[in-house]
Amino acid sequence: MQPGYLQALETGELKRRIDKAGQWSTRCCLCPRNCGVNRLEGELGFCRTGPLAQVAAFNLHFGEEAPLVGENGSGTVFFGHCNLGCVFCQNHDISDNQSTHQEVHPNQLAWIFMQLQKQGAHNINLVTPSHVVLQVLQALELAAGDGLNIPLVYNTSSYDEVHTLKLLEGIVDIYLADSKFFYSEQARKYADAPDYPQKAKEAILEMHRQVGGLETDDQGIARRGLMIRHLVMPDNLAGSDEWLQFFAENLSKDTFLNIMGQYRPAGMAHNYPELLGRVSGNQVETLNKKARKLGLTNLDQRSSGIFRLLV
Ligand code: SF4
Repeated sequence: MQPGYLQALETGELKRRIDKAGQWSTRCCLCPRNCGVNRLEGELGFCRTGPLAQVAAFNLHFGEEAPLVGENGSGTVFFGHCNLGCVFCQNHDISDNQSTHQEVHPNQLAWIFMQLQKQGAHNINLVTPSHVVLQVLQALELAAGDGLNIPLVYNTSSYDEVHTLKLLEGIVDIYLADSKFFYSEQARKYADAPDYPQKAKEAILEMHRQVGGLETDDQGIARRGLMIRHLVMPDNLAGSDEWLQFFAENLSKDTFLNIMGQYRPAGMAHNYPELLGRVSGNQVETLNKKARKLGLTNLDQRSSGIFRLLV
């Protein structure tokens, strides 16, 4: 199965999507923040990103889910800044540390994609790409013309607009989607995004509509599909049970789900006493059991296995 973007390149559809993303960047409505700034003229919105993407790091990453990592690693590109901005950001050192961010032109971003492919990456894994959709598409056009041919992973907080996700239909092969706050109150308090629950649910349904459940090759490497992540938070602040119910009722039962227990207080979490707690292996295992009971069959073996050993 060849990545969708190669066909989009051949038919000229990729070019049309770039044009559309460019138009939307002049009064930026690419994500739910809907800042309305002209990013192509250097105006900055919430994501503090103008016409060029900022890259904080890129490497072969072996800490992602097994179907993305395989033998050779996932070709991870960490973008600077983010359109959500959780106060407890687990990637705070990378996402918010301006000194590590390098502005890149589309040809430089394309070069990064090609380097990762040459190093053997199983995929190009775009970490927090919601605010750089235009720049990713521009780079993809160049890299695909140069021989890029590995799957594209859109690794998102899920604070995405459906109309922007539609620009990625047939271009992104794998969606790796966070499910953060089920309720508005927490989304407002910890990310100033009270509409996160609604937007994330709509986005996850759209991603699922586009790519369906996870498909792998005969080595177990992801080729296409939706993978869901859920970071369990202290005091059930993320609404874990409710998310599981939502997945079971709305997604195919074989949708890949990683229930993650590695929450740690990071970023500005020290300003919120309730964010200083930890998540136990028992909590994660209980959620894995609940997910199985709800009929979800494709749970990340690593997290459920590790925590089974700990309890
Ligand atoms: S992508 Fe950035 S500028 Fe555009 S709406 Fe979102 S946060 Fe605002």
